[in-house]
Order: sequence, then C-alpha cells, then structure tokens
Amino acid sequence: MFLTVKCVYELESNNNAEMIDFKLQKISKWKDDLIHLIYPSSCLICEKELSEFNNHFCPFCTNELNFTYFERYEEPTILDQLFWGRVNVYSTYAHLFFEKEKSTQPILHALKYKDKPEIGIEMGKEIGENLKKMSSFSSVDVLIPVPIHSKKQFTRGYNQSEKIADGIAEVLNIPVVPDFMGHAKQTESQTKKGRFLRWDNVENKFKAKKIASTSFKHIAIVDDVITTGATLEAIIRMIRENNPEIRISIISLAITK
Ligand SMILES: [Zn+2]
Repeated sequence: MFLTVKCVYELESNNNAEMIDFKLQKISKWKDDLIHLIYPSSCLICEKELSEFNNHFCPFCTNELNFTYFERYEEPTILDQLFWGRVNVYSTYAHLFFEKEKSTQPILHALKYKDKPEIGIEMGKEIGENLKKMSSFSSVDVLIPVPIHSKKQFTRGYNQSEKIADGIAEVLNIPVVPDFMGHAKQTESQTKKGRFLRWDNVENKFKAKKIASTSFKHIAIVDDVITTGATLEAIIRMIRENNPEIRISIISLAITK
C-alpha cells in the first residue's frame, strides 16, 4: 500500500516537474520573442535585422565567408608552408581565406573600421571550437595578440587581434597577454611598403620593448589577416631571442589567398 502511494506520488511529482519545465521553457521562449521584438538583433557585419534562427551573422554575410577548413587537413597547409625556411613554427591555423573585393572582405572591414569588436570575439569563439579539434593546439598555454600602433588603437578603440584572442580564450580557457610585446611604434602605414621594408619596419617597432623571458611553454600568436607573414616572422624571431626553447604557434582570422 505504502509502495503504491509512493509510486503514484513519484509519478505525479515527475509529471509536475515536466509540466513546470515545459511552462518555464514556454515563458523563456516568450521572453526571447519579446526581447527580439523590442530589440531586434542585427547582423554584426551588414546590420540587417536577423531572424530568430540566425546567430550574429545573417545568411548573406555567412555565405560570403570563405572557410579554410584547415582543421581537417592532415598535410601541411599553405599557412604552414609560408614559414618554411624562415622561422620555426609549431602549428598554424587560419579560419578564413581573404581575397580583396571578394569573400571575407566585409567581415574584416567591419571588424577594423566599423567599431565592431564583437565580430572579433564571436569569430574567436568559432576559431576556438575548431582549435579544440586539432591536437597540435592542445598544449597552448597563452595567447599573444599582434599589437597595433597605439594611435590606431586609440582611434579604433580596440586592437582587433586582441578581440579575436579574447573569443578564443573563452573557449579554450587560457589567458590572453595583450601587452607581451608592448605597443608598436610605427611611423608609416605598413600597407604601402614592400615585404623587405616592412620587415625592417616591424623589427624596429618591436625593438623598443625587449621581449623578456617567459615561463609559458607554448604560446600562440593571434593575428587578424596574414599576407606575407613578415610581421609574424619578426615577432617570432624577437620572442625566440630570449626564449629559444619556447614552442610558438600561429592563429589568424584570415589568410590572403
Ligand atoms: Zn549580414
């Protein structure tokens, strides 16, 4: 008798719990719909209104993204090959291919010039999820964003590579050290210069603050776009000066095709 009562009671309370759960879900859905109605979320890139099924980016902008799928490669990628014979790099990853006036351009433009640090963070989270699938990144213990000119950081309000690193850090649960290399001191816009001039320029600008020894074993440098790899090459050489044994990997939001 007692057992029957207990069973009925448990059955009822289970049903109740399910019912409460169901009601809570419904309320939460109404709340989401209401918030969406009052503050419709918009695409981080083009600012068009998003449907409730889209997360941060609209289908049109997502379609513009040219993913590398490097996380699935078993052979060396073009990014690995870029550093062959230059500097020793442990592992590399780039999330998107970038072609001027073509794929991936809108997202990079919005990240750099439209005051949208959230794009860096969201993309960083996506990158973090892919890095989890790559065993070569499992030992990374710190993220170092490529510094930008302090004047640029002041007008932009943020360093885009740092935002990407913040997103990655959230997923991988490792620290970001933004001032590892100090601020860049750069006199002319790098984009106007050729590869070798650029290399010199980069060396000079980071020389100001000597990179000290660190207790980290495997650092990953985070960049927004890799073109010639000259900036990264210079940074890696400088880090190695005082840390010859350190493992260095590279993570970038995009690489030019
Ligand atoms: Zn869009």
